[in-house]
Amino acid sequence: MQLTPQALRALKDTSVFEITWTDGKTFQLPFKLVRSECPCAECVHEITGERILQPEWIPDDIRPTELSYAGNYALRIVWSDRHASGIFTWERLHGLCSHYQAVLVSQPI
Ligand SMILES: [Zn+2]
Repeated sequence: MQLTPQALRALKDTSVFEITWTDGKTFQLPFKLVRSECPCAECVHEITGERILQPEWIPDDIRPTELSYAGNYALRIVWSDRHASGIFTWERLHGLCSHYQAVLVSQPI
């Protein structure tokens, strides 16, 4: 079953996206992490799949300046570093949530 977000918020105070999925689970993904996973052709080589974007190129205070839905399958994010070509499918976002869950739950509150 394809999961879709039930709620999606950008929390600027803590620099995370908070996403609640249709299975009821809520995750927080840091802005910088999502930016570093951008799948667009400027960030990832289209043929080799090699990552062009280096994490150290991303400013620490990176944040989304504009969020919009691309159809009903993805989120389009415009970033404060003016990068605007990244489209994050629900599948990719949910994959990031699952992958980083351990890191996030172990963080002190
Ligand atoms: Zn990109």
